[in-house]
Amino acid sequence: MNAAAPPTLAAVPTVKLLIDGAFVESRSTVWRDIVNPATQEVLARVPFATAEEVDAAVQSARAAFRSWRKTPIGVRARIFLKYQQLIREQMKPLAMLLTAEQGKTLPDAEGDIFRGLEVVEHAANIGSLQMGELANNVATGVDTYTLLQPLGVCAGITPFNFPAMIPLWMFPMAIATGNTFVLKPSEQDPLVTMRLVELALEAGIPKGVLNVVHGGPDVVNGLCDHPDIKAISFVGSTRVGTEVYRRATLAGKRAQCLMGAKNHAVVLPDANREQALNALVGAAFGAAGQRCMAVSAVVLVGAARDWIPELVAKARRLKVDAGFVPGADLGPLISCAARDRVVGLIEQGVADGAVLELDGRNPVVPGHERGNFVGPTIFSRVQPGMSIYREEVFGPVLVILDAATLDDAIALVNANPNGNGTAVFTQSGAAARKFQEEIDVGQVGINVPIPVPVPLFSFSGSRASKLGDLGPYGKQAIAFYTQTKTVTQRWFEDDGNAAAAGPNTTISLR
Ligand code: NAD
Repeated sequence: MNAAAPPTLAAVPTVKLLIDGAFVESRSTVWRDIVNPATQEVLARVPFATAEEVDAAVQSARAAFRSWRKTPIGVRARIFLKYQQLIREQMKPLAMLLTAEQGKTLPDAEGDIFRGLEVVEHAANIGSLQMGELANNVATGVDTYTLLQPLGVCAGITPFNFPAMIPLWMFPMAIATGNTFVLKPSEQDPLVTMRLVELALEAGIPKGVLNVVHGGPDVVNGLCDHPDIKAISFVGSTRVGTEVYRRATLAGKRAQCLMGAKNHAVVLPDANREQALNALVGAAFGAAGQRCMAVSAVVLVGAARDWIPELVAKARRLKVDAGFVPGADLGPLISCAARDRVVGLIEQGVADGAVLELDGRNPVVPGHERGNFVGPTIFSRVQPGMSIYREEVFGPVLVILDAATLDDAIALVNANPNGNGTAVFTQSGAAARKFQEEIDVGQVGINVPIPVPVPLFSFSGSRASKLGDLGPYGKQAIAFYTQTKTVTQRWFEDDGNAAAAGPNTTISLR
């Protein structure tokens, strides 16, 4: 972050705010560079919006809610049908923009967009999702039914690692259910998010229904405290999410916070060796380990411990390069600070006595020497007390722990504070079922290394990985973004018999 743009950077484009249907230049004096993490090229500058700008975005959303909440189901649905088509048509340029600012490989950038696109498709089906219930004749001549009505202005705060998918987890479901929205994208890579927002307007989202403000803690705090916002969706680190949850709920809002992780894969010796090792390598090092569902710890049970050399050999063969280079398996970390932090944690792992099986520090990447690269790194003989195990590294670092039995492995995973994702690799149905029943983690994969659910379901999480009962997208998102109104109705017939019965002074429906 730095003060007003120096003259030399005047040619660098600025990221706009979206307020009341218009993309406007912020009046902020605080701006930050958006930097290509493979080259250090400054792509654009993003403002940290002022309190007045945040309020203007909320007021625009508040005004738009009056008519949007009454917009017919079919009109809302058709906007999202159009939106999914526009995203599909723009997939390649969107992926290139995402790779330029975030660093992940182009195929993985397309995956990031596609997983968000699935939520847009789901939002287009809103007519059959946002339906209440009706019970006929709950008392004589009385029916009761429910309406799932939108809340009002909702806000979303998103992390850097999925700049397409995670904003698309939020605003399509919120808007399709009749709410209006203020989005605060990651200040590290907001460009692809803004392009997706432009496409949403092109698809027909009316002015004021979707607004965007940029910034950091002040803007987030402003959203949490704002009296006209009814609900906050947050995805990011546990430290920030815990504070967002506390602050937003204290202000009377609904909040859902999806947070940090340490995802364990448990490998039993009867697993299909080749498939399990390929899955582990892909899930640990894809996106340079910057996925909330990355496998960052593997528990080798019994004789599976002998598989370490083969795991290391597979990881060593991965190609580290800029994400836009064909054949790259993993790109750079998001920032120089992130790289320095990951390298520091690797150094600490060595100092703590873990065995460094593969050292990814300072990889040679010809042509991109200035990129924030760390190559695949593997530690064995890791103990739960070590910082490389305790902390979410959020880089291409896989730690290996041993367990004598499946019970020991389950106990180890459940003792970790995080409960985002986990996977078991085995050919035994009984072992898999025991794991599914006893593990205290939100997303469980059985021979599936990154079990992110499709939007027929909702993303979940337990313990330190999630606060709030309801997850984003899927059925739980409908419940999160609506409030239930229960209507009990009676229509008297013309003969006046009910009136003749006199006043009912009891609680019973008669
Ligand atoms: P982050 O917590 O640093 O930032 C997330 C958002 O919070 C950003 O928009 C940022 O501007 C804002 N923010 C940062 N510091 C703040 C502060 N002090 N007060 C208020 N707001 C603040 O997270 P990140 O580094 O962008 O993303 C990586 C983290 O997100 C990892 O921990 C990862 O596990 C997690 N994540 C979780 C999920 C999930 O579904 N559970 C998904 C993706 C990422």
